[in-house]
Amino acid sequence: MSALTTVPDLVAAGLADAADTAALQQVAESFRIRITPSMQSPSLAAQFVPSAAELITRPEELADPIGDAAHAPTPGLTHRYPDRVILHTTQTCEVYCRFCFRRETVGEDGPLSDAALTAALDYIRATPAIWEVILTGGDPLTLSPRRLRVLLQQLADIPHVDVVRFHTRVPVVAPDRITDALLDALKTRPAVYIVVHSNHADELTSQAQTALARLANQGIPLLSQTVLLNGVNNSVAALTDLFRALIRNRVKPYYLHHCDLARGTSHFRTSIAEGQALMAALRGNLSGICLPTYVLDLPGGHGKVPLLPSAATETSPGHWQITDYLGRAHLYDDPAVES
Ligand code: SF4
Repeated sequence: MSALTTVPDLVAAGLADAADTAALQQVAESFRIRITPSMQSPSLAAQFVPSAAELITRPEELADPIGDAAHAPTPGLTHRYPDRVILHTTQTCEVYCRFCFRRETVGEDGPLSDAALTAALDYIRATPAIWEVILTGGDPLTLSPRRLRVLLQQLADIPHVDVVRFHTRVPVVAPDRITDALLDALKTRPAVYIVVHSNHADELTSQAQTALARLANQGIPLLSQTVLLNGVNNSVAALTDLFRALIRNRVKPYYLHHCDLARGTSHFRTSIAEGQALMAALRGNLSGICLPTYVLDLPGGHGKVPLLPSAATETSPGHWQITDYLGRAHLYDDPAVES
Protein backbone atom coordinates (compact mmCIF):
# COMPACT_ATOMS: atom_id res chain seq x y z
CA MET A 1 0.00 0.00 0.00
CA SER A 2 1.17 3.52 -0.68
CA ALA A 3 0.02 6.98 0.38
CA LEU A 4 -3.08 8.42 -1.33
CA THR A 5 -2.36 11.91 -2.67
CA THR A 6 -4.95 12.67 -5.38
CA VAL A 7 -8.73 12.65 -5.77
CA PRO A 8 -8.58 9.72 -8.26
CA ASP A 9 -6.52 7.80 -5.63
CA LEU A 10 -9.32 8.38 -3.10
CA VAL A 11 -12.02 7.26 -5.54
CA ALA A 12 -10.04 4.13 -6.47
CA ALA A 13 -9.59 3.30 -2.76
CA GLY A 14 -13.33 3.66 -2.15
CA LEU A 15 -12.81 6.63 0.19
CA ALA A 16 -14.51 9.19 -2.10
CA ASP A 17 -17.45 9.09 -4.49
CA ALA A 18 -16.63 9.58 -8.19
CA ALA A 19 -19.63 11.93 -8.44
CA ASP A 20 -17.87 14.35 -6.05
CA THR A 21 -14.67 14.51 -8.11
CA ALA A 22 -15.13 18.05 -9.47
CA ALA A 23 -15.77 19.58 -6.02
CA LEU A 24 -12.94 17.62 -4.40
CA GLN A 25 -10.52 18.69 -7.15
CA GLN A 26 -11.42 22.29 -6.30
CA VAL A 27 -10.61 21.62 -2.62
CA ALA A 28 -7.34 19.89 -3.59
CA GLU A 29 -6.22 23.00 -5.50
CA SER A 30 -6.08 24.88 -2.17
CA PHE A 31 -5.40 22.19 0.41
CA ARG A 32 -3.09 19.25 -0.21
CA ILE A 33 -4.11 15.58 0.17
CA ARG A 34 -1.94 12.86 1.67
CA ILE A 35 -3.15 9.78 3.58
CA THR A 36 -0.62 7.19 4.72
CA PRO A 37 -1.47 3.47 4.53
CA SER A 38 -2.02 3.40 8.32
CA MET A 39 -4.73 6.06 8.11
CA GLN A 40 -6.75 4.69 5.15
CA SER A 41 -9.39 3.05 7.34
CA PRO A 42 -12.96 4.30 6.57
CA SER A 43 -13.40 5.02 10.31
CA LEU A 44 -10.71 7.72 10.02
CA ALA A 45 -11.79 9.14 6.66
CA ALA A 46 -13.38 12.32 8.03
CA GLN A 47 -10.00 13.57 9.29
CA PHE A 48 -8.10 13.04 6.02
CA VAL A 49 -10.46 12.73 3.03
CA PRO A 50 -11.40 16.16 1.61
CA SER A 51 -15.03 17.23 1.56
CA ALA A 52 -16.96 19.82 -0.44
CA ALA A 53 -17.70 21.54 2.91
CA GLU A 54 -14.10 22.85 2.79
CA LEU A 55 -15.18 25.16 -0.03
CA ILE A 56 -17.30 27.12 2.48
CA THR A 57 -15.33 29.94 4.12
CA ARG A 58 -17.06 31.74 6.96
CA PRO A 59 -16.33 35.44 7.67
CA GLU A 60 -14.64 34.72 11.01
CA GLU A 61 -12.19 32.22 9.49
CA LEU A 62 -8.55 33.23 9.03
CA ALA A 63 -5.49 32.19 7.02
CA ASP A 64 -3.36 32.30 10.20
CA PRO A 65 -5.90 31.54 12.94
CA ILE A 66 -3.55 31.48 15.93
CA GLY A 67 -1.43 34.42 14.81
CA ASP A 68 1.95 32.73 14.24
CA ALA A 69 2.99 35.57 11.92
CA ALA A 70 2.28 38.22 14.58
CA HIS A 71 5.18 36.89 16.67
CA ALA A 72 7.83 35.92 14.09
CA PRO A 73 11.21 37.55 14.85
CA THR A 74 12.80 35.60 11.97
CA PRO A 75 11.23 33.46 9.20
CA GLY A 76 10.21 30.06 10.56
CA LEU A 77 10.31 31.11 14.23
CA THR A 78 7.39 32.10 16.51
CA HIS A 79 8.16 33.75 19.86
CA ARG A 80 4.78 34.18 21.58
CA TYR A 81 5.59 33.43 25.25
CA PRO A 82 8.77 34.58 27.05
CA ASP A 83 10.40 31.22 27.82
CA ARG A 84 9.72 29.25 24.62
CA VAL A 85 9.77 29.49 20.86
CA ILE A 86 8.23 27.46 18.06
CA LEU A 87 10.66 26.49 15.31
CA HIS A 88 8.88 25.51 12.08
CA THR A 89 11.51 23.05 10.90
CA THR A 90 9.59 21.90 7.83
CA GLN A 91 6.24 22.40 6.15
CA THR A 92 5.96 18.75 5.13
CA CYS A 93 3.66 16.26 6.88
CA GLU A 94 3.01 12.54 6.47
CA VAL A 95 -0.73 13.27 6.32
CA TYR A 96 -2.66 16.46 5.62
CA CYS A 97 -5.46 16.84 8.16
CA ARG A 98 -8.58 18.53 6.84
CA PHE A 99 -8.95 20.73 9.96
CA CYS A 100 -5.28 21.77 10.32
CA PHE A 101 -4.86 25.34 11.62
CA ARG A 102 -1.71 25.65 9.49
CA ARG A 103 -3.41 24.26 6.37
CA GLU A 104 -2.52 27.37 4.33
CA THR A 105 1.22 26.79 4.83
CA VAL A 106 1.80 23.04 5.29
CA GLY A 107 2.95 21.07 2.27
CA GLU A 108 4.44 24.01 0.42
CA ASP A 109 8.08 24.55 1.19
CA GLY A 110 9.63 21.44 2.76
CA PRO A 111 12.47 21.97 5.29
CA LEU A 112 13.39 25.45 6.49
CA SER A 113 16.18 26.88 4.35
CA ASP A 114 19.72 26.85 5.79
CA ALA A 115 19.73 30.67 5.91
CA ALA A 116 16.42 30.82 7.80
CA LEU A 117 17.55 28.10 10.22
CA THR A 118 20.80 29.95 10.89
CA ALA A 119 18.89 33.18 11.59
CA ALA A 120 16.48 31.34 13.92
CA LEU A 121 19.33 29.69 15.84
CA ASP A 122 21.12 33.06 16.10
CA TYR A 123 17.94 34.57 17.62
CA ILE A 124 17.59 31.71 20.13
CA ARG A 125 21.29 31.97 21.04
CA ALA A 126 20.94 35.74 21.61
CA THR A 127 17.79 35.41 23.77
CA PRO A 128 18.69 33.88 27.17
CA ALA A 129 15.03 33.80 28.29
CA ILE A 130 14.35 30.96 25.83
CA TRP A 131 14.31 27.77 27.92
CA GLU A 132 12.37 25.49 25.55
CA VAL A 133 12.32 25.07 21.76
CA ILE A 134 9.20 23.50 20.25
CA LEU A 135 9.83 21.83 16.91
CA THR A 136 6.72 21.79 14.78
CA GLY A 137 5.85 22.30 11.18
CA GLY A 138 4.60 20.64 9.30
CA ASP A 139 5.87 17.61 11.15
CA PRO A 140 9.47 17.68 12.47
CA LEU A 141 9.71 13.87 12.53
CA THR A 142 9.50 13.86 8.71
CA LEU A 143 13.07 15.25 8.76
CA SER A 144 15.85 12.70 8.29
CA PRO A 145 17.58 11.37 11.44
CA ARG A 146 20.80 12.94 10.14
CA ARG A 147 19.23 16.40 9.90
CA LEU A 148 17.57 16.01 13.30
CA ARG A 149 20.84 14.92 14.92
CA VAL A 150 22.59 18.06 13.60
CA LEU A 151 19.73 20.33 14.74
CA LEU A 152 19.55 18.79 18.21
CA GLN A 153 23.33 19.21 18.59
CA GLN A 154 23.04 22.88 17.55
CA LEU A 155 20.35 23.38 20.20
CA ALA A 156 22.38 21.43 22.78
CA ASP A 157 25.23 23.90 22.23
CA ILE A 158 23.01 26.79 23.42
CA PRO A 159 23.44 26.75 27.23
CA HIS A 160 20.03 28.23 28.14
CA VAL A 161 17.99 25.74 26.05
CA ASP A 162 17.05 22.95 28.47
CA VAL A 163 14.16 21.27 26.63
CA VAL A 164 13.29 20.42 23.02
CA ARG A 165 9.68 19.48 22.41
CA PHE A 166 8.50 17.75 19.22
CA HIS A 167 4.90 18.22 18.04
CA THR A 168 4.26 15.32 15.70
CA ARG A 169 1.73 12.94 14.23
CA VAL A 170 4.40 10.56 12.86
CA PRO A 171 4.36 7.81 15.55
CA VAL A 172 0.63 7.35 14.86
CA VAL A 173 0.25 8.02 11.12
CA ALA A 174 3.62 6.70 9.88
CA PRO A 175 4.91 4.42 12.64
CA ASP A 176 7.55 2.83 10.38
CA ARG A 177 9.47 6.13 10.61
CA ILE A 178 10.33 5.35 14.27
CA THR A 179 13.53 3.56 13.25
CA ASP A 180 16.68 2.74 15.19
CA ALA A 181 18.41 5.64 13.42
CA LEU A 182 15.72 8.08 14.57
CA LEU A 183 15.77 6.77 18.14
CA ASP A 184 19.53 7.17 18.14
CA ALA A 185 19.26 10.78 16.92
CA LEU A 186 16.85 11.57 19.78
CA LYS A 187 19.34 10.36 22.45
CA THR A 188 20.56 13.79 23.34
CA ARG A 189 20.75 16.68 25.70
CA PRO A 190 18.74 18.90 26.02
CA ALA A 191 15.83 16.78 27.24
CA VAL A 192 13.52 15.65 24.44
CA TYR A 193 9.74 15.54 24.97
CA ILE A 194 7.35 14.28 22.28
CA VAL A 195 3.75 15.52 22.01
CA VAL A 196 1.80 13.16 19.76
CA HIS A 197 -1.24 14.47 17.89
CA SER A 198 -4.05 11.89 17.97
CA ASN A 199 -7.80 12.38 17.69
CA HIS A 200 -9.38 8.91 17.70
CA ALA A 201 -8.62 5.57 19.36
CA ASP A 202 -8.71 3.85 15.92
CA GLU A 203 -5.50 5.75 15.04
CA LEU A 204 -3.63 3.70 17.65
CA THR A 205 -3.05 0.67 15.43
CA SER A 206 -0.78 -2.16 16.58
CA GLN A 207 2.08 -0.56 14.57
CA ALA A 208 1.43 2.80 16.24
CA GLN A 209 1.42 1.12 19.65
CA THR A 210 4.79 -0.46 18.85
CA ALA A 211 6.21 2.90 17.74
CA LEU A 212 5.00 4.59 20.94
CA ALA A 213 6.47 1.76 23.04
CA ARG A 214 9.84 2.16 21.33
CA LEU A 215 9.88 5.88 22.16
CA ALA A 216 8.68 5.31 25.75
CA ASN A 217 11.20 2.49 26.28
CA GLN A 218 13.96 4.91 25.35
CA GLY A 219 12.80 7.07 28.26
CA ILE A 220 11.28 9.87 26.16
CA PRO A 221 8.30 11.43 27.98
CA LEU A 222 5.20 11.23 25.74
CA LEU A 223 2.26 13.63 25.87
CA SER A 224 -0.65 14.05 23.47
CA GLN A 225 -2.72 16.76 21.88
CA THR A 226 -6.19 16.20 20.45
CA VAL A 227 -8.43 18.49 18.44
CA LEU A 228 -12.11 18.38 19.39
CA LEU A 229 -13.81 17.59 16.07
CA ASN A 230 -17.50 17.44 15.26
CA GLY A 231 -18.34 14.03 13.82
CA VAL A 232 -14.96 12.54 14.80
CA ASN A 233 -14.58 12.57 18.58
CA ASN A 234 -17.25 14.87 20.07
CA SER A 235 -18.78 12.23 22.33
CA VAL A 236 -18.00 10.98 25.83
CA ALA A 237 -17.47 7.47 24.45
CA ALA A 238 -14.99 8.53 21.73
CA LEU A 239 -12.93 10.73 24.08
CA THR A 240 -12.97 8.08 26.83
CA ASP A 241 -11.69 5.43 24.40
CA LEU A 242 -9.00 7.77 23.06
CA PHE A 243 -7.69 9.07 26.39
CA ARG A 244 -7.64 5.58 27.95
CA ALA A 245 -5.86 4.17 24.88
CA LEU A 246 -3.25 6.93 25.10
CA ILE A 247 -2.60 6.31 28.79
CA ARG A 248 -2.39 2.54 28.15
CA ASN A 249 0.37 3.37 25.66
CA ARG A 250 2.17 5.61 28.19
CA VAL A 251 1.08 8.86 26.50
CA LYS A 252 -0.27 11.50 28.92
CA PRO A 253 -3.21 13.47 27.42
CA TYR A 254 -2.03 17.09 27.53
CA TYR A 255 -4.30 19.37 25.48
CA LEU A 256 -7.79 19.03 24.01
CA HIS A 257 -7.88 21.92 21.53
CA HIS A 258 -11.03 23.73 20.58
CA CYS A 259 -10.99 23.61 16.77
CA ASP A 260 -9.31 26.76 15.39
CA LEU A 261 -10.81 29.20 12.88
CA ALA A 262 -8.93 27.88 9.85
CA ARG A 263 -10.58 28.51 6.49
CA GLY A 264 -13.04 25.86 5.31
CA THR A 265 -13.24 24.01 8.65
CA SER A 266 -16.59 25.16 10.10
CA HIS A 267 -18.10 21.67 9.64
CA PHE A 268 -15.56 20.37 12.21
CA ARG A 269 -16.22 22.99 14.90
CA THR A 270 -18.30 22.29 18.01
CA SER A 271 -19.48 25.03 20.33
CA ILE A 272 -17.36 25.86 23.38
CA ALA A 273 -20.38 24.93 25.54
CA GLU A 274 -20.35 21.44 24.00
CA GLY A 275 -16.62 21.07 24.71
CA GLN A 276 -17.11 22.16 28.32
CA ALA A 277 -20.03 19.74 28.76
CA LEU A 278 -17.88 16.89 27.41
CA MET A 279 -15.04 17.71 29.80
CA ALA A 280 -17.51 17.97 32.72
CA ALA A 281 -18.89 14.53 31.83
CA LEU A 282 -15.38 13.05 31.71
CA ARG A 283 -14.26 14.59 35.01
CA GLY A 284 -14.68 12.10 37.83
CA ASN A 285 -15.79 9.29 35.54
CA LEU A 286 -12.36 8.99 33.99
CA SER A 287 -9.08 8.59 35.87
CA GLY A 288 -7.48 11.98 36.47
CA ILE A 289 -4.36 11.00 34.53
CA CYS A 290 -6.55 10.53 31.41
CA LEU A 291 -7.81 14.13 31.44
CA PRO A 292 -6.21 16.80 29.21
CA THR A 293 -6.76 20.54 29.58
CA TYR A 294 -9.41 21.89 27.19
CA VAL A 295 -7.96 25.04 25.57
CA LEU A 296 -8.73 27.73 23.03
CA ASP A 297 -5.91 29.32 21.04
CA LEU A 298 -7.07 32.92 20.84
CA PRO A 299 -7.12 34.36 17.30
CA GLY A 300 -4.57 37.10 16.71
CA GLY A 301 -1.70 35.39 18.51
CA HIS A 302 -2.88 36.06 22.07
CA GLY A 303 -2.07 32.49 23.18
CA LYS A 304 -3.82 29.48 24.70
CA VAL A 305 -6.46 29.86 27.40
CA PRO A 306 -7.98 26.98 29.44
CA LEU A 307 -11.74 26.73 28.84
CA LEU A 308 -12.76 24.70 31.88
CA PRO A 309 -15.63 26.22 33.85
CA SER A 310 -14.59 26.79 37.46
CA ALA A 311 -15.93 24.29 39.99
CA ALA A 312 -15.43 26.88 42.78
CA THR A 313 -17.36 30.12 43.44
CA GLU A 314 -16.45 32.41 46.35
CA THR A 315 -19.85 33.47 47.79
CA SER A 316 -18.32 35.76 50.47
CA PRO A 317 -14.69 36.20 51.66
CA GLY A 318 -13.38 32.72 52.59
CA HIS A 319 -16.69 30.97 51.86
CA TRP A 320 -16.87 28.83 48.77
CA GLN A 321 -19.46 26.86 46.90
CA ILE A 322 -17.77 23.87 45.25
CA THR A 323 -19.46 21.66 42.65
CA ASP A 324 -18.47 17.97 42.65
CA TYR A 325 -18.25 15.77 39.56
CA LEU A 326 -21.93 14.74 39.89
CA GLY A 327 -23.00 18.40 39.85
CA ARG A 328 -23.81 18.55 43.59
CA ALA A 329 -22.96 21.80 45.40
CA HIS A 330 -20.96 21.76 48.67
CA LEU A 331 -20.00 24.60 51.00
CA TYR A 332 -16.32 24.90 51.96
CA ASP A 333 -14.94 27.45 54.43
CA ASP A 334 -11.34 28.20 53.60
CA PRO A 335 -9.43 27.91 56.93
CA ALA A 336 -6.59 30.05 55.54
CA VAL A 337 -8.94 33.08 55.40
CA GLU A 338 -9.90 34.61 58.75
CA SER A 339 -13.60 35.44 59.05
S1 SF4 B 1 0.07 16.56 10.76
FE1 SF4 B 1 -0.21 18.42 12.02
S2 SF4 B 1 0.70 20.11 10.85
FE2 SF4 B 1 0.39 18.38 9.44
S3 SF4 B 1 -1.61 18.71 8.51
FE3 SF4 B 1 -1.97 17.38 10.29
S4 SF4 B 1 -2.42 18.83 11.95
FE4 SF4 B 1 -1.47 20.03 10.32
